[in-house]
Amino acid sequence: MTYDRLVCANCAAPVSQGRCPVCRANRERLQQESPFAGLNPMALIALLVVLVAALTVIAKAA
Ligand SMILES: [Zn+2]
Repeated sequence: MTYDRLVCANCAAPVSQGRCPVCRANRERLQQESPFAGLNPMALIALLVVLVAALTVIAKAA
């Protein structure tokens, strides 16, 4: 994780130390981040629909 090097804009202490509410909020948000955090659920559903459609086309072509 890279958040332990972040410095809080509110208290100027490392965010990982959680000295102020802003730190704690940022720390929690960053800890919850996963490689898929950038994808919203609707994008995942759309991706799934496209995948199923592609498989259907492939199955019909075969
Ligand atoms: Zn802070």
